[in-house]
Order: sequence, then structure tokens, then C-alpha cells
Amino acid sequence: MLNHRKVNLIFPLLFILLLTLDLRIGISNWFYPALVVLKLAVMFWGSYFINSNYHIKTLCEIKTDEKIIALTFDDGPDNTVTPALLQVLKKHNVKAAFFCIGRKIEGKENVIKQIDSEGHIIGNHSFSHSNFFDFFIARKMKNEFEHSDKLVFDATGKQMNFFRPPYGITTPAMKKAVAEKQYHTIGWSVRSMDSMQKNEEKLMSKLTAQLKPGAVFLFHDTWQGVVPLIDKFLNEVKAQGFKVVRPDELFKVNACKNV
Ligand SMILES: [Zn+2]
Repeated sequence: MLNHRKVNLIFPLLFILLLTLDLRIGISNWFYPALVVLKLAVMFWGSYFINSNYHIKTLCEIKTDEKIIALTFDDGPDNTVTPALLQVLKKHNVKAAFFCIGRKIEGKENVIKQIDSEGHIIGNHSFSHSNFFDFFIARKMKNEFEHSDKLVFDATGKQMNFFRPPYGITTPAMKKAVAEKQYHTIGWSVRSMDSMQKNEEKLMSKLTAQLKPGAVFLFHDTWQGVVPLIDKFLNEVKAQGFKVVRPDELFKVNACKNV
């Protein structure tokens, strides 16, 4: 699989190859900027697509014939939406993972406690979820991770072991920070885009079409509409004979460092 380390080896070799060809037979000068553009395109693909495993090994789905899927919720907690969502999950007897933003946890420790006590996973989704998070150096990222870790530990007594990159963007600095913290990086295979597309019917048909064994769904517990959407979706999941398992069960990894 193509990753950042291999690309950093391959591209200098390609440059030497071009240079050799140029000196021997002469090639168009356009090959040089084309090589730069190609490298930038590969780096963009690797950073932007979480399932590329380009910078960080990321758990996005599993290969299985068993009709099991996992649900994840990002960018909470929210004082209203998260408890309402927890109620729906309880009704369907479904356990999920919540990738919470540290700055949103402050003042909502009760919601964090409820997520945990009802048997769901809490994962690290940075403290700030800054638009510029992917430009941060590793130390700054690590500080954010530890700030969020402490907030969740103080509320639940658990050390988070799951991390999801804000916006799903990965970088070499993030690779370093994640390695130091020894998190499992969790991605997704189905991005519902529920934060942009609010039409329940369209969302449902998109989700149903992507209901496949081993899939991991990404939602956001930041908007009220996710509550009825999940209720409806879980009815469909059951009707199609699928079972929802917690992501740690799906991937067979520990969601907490100290439990
Ligand atoms: Zn997010």
C-alpha cells in the first residue's frame, strides 16, 4: 500500500530517472512540473482520504460476511441532542462510539458520564477541533489529546484509547502525536454527510444503499434531526437482518487503556 514513507523514497528515484532520460535522450521540460503535481496529488489523496492509510493506519471497516455494522457519532457532546440520541440507542439496545470534542465536554461532564454509563465508547476527537488542526505541530496536537483525555478521565475514570482525526485529515505530525499516545485511529466507511444534507429521505436512501457487512457509519450528534434519523435507520438495519456492534468489538481492539 502506498504511504508517505514510500512516496518519499519513490519520488526522488523518479526525479533521478527523469534527469537520466533527459541527459541521454532529452525529454520535455514539462515532465518536471508534472512530477511535482503528481506528488502533490498523491499527498492530497493520502491526507484527505482517511481510508488511504497513507499517514496513519486507520481502522475504517472490516471484511466479513457476517451482517454486522458499527455506529459512530462525532463532534458532541450536546446537552440536548446527545441524551435524546442515547435514549434511541437504548430503545434499540445498540452501543456506539462517540468521538467528543474536548472544549465541548467542559460543562457537559454529566452527558459524558451518561454516554459511558450506558455502555458506549468515548473517543478523542481533539480538544479544539480547529479548522487548522492539520497544520498543528505534533506537540500541539498531543497537548490537545491530553487535555481531552483528562476531561474524560475525570468524568469517567477511563483512559481513552480511540482517536478520530478532525475532518478525517491526517498528517505526518499527527502520525507522530498518535504514535506517542498509542491510540487506535478510527475512521469510517460510510460518511452520512448528515451535517450538510438534512433531508431525512435522501439520507435514509443513501445509508440503506451502503448497508454492508463490516461497515462503519459516521454521524454527528450536533443536530436534532439525527435522533429520528437513527431511530428510522436502526429499524431498517434490523429489518435487513443486520446487527450493530460496538466498534471495539468490530475491530477487536481495546477502547480504553485502563479497563
Ligand atoms: Zn469532527
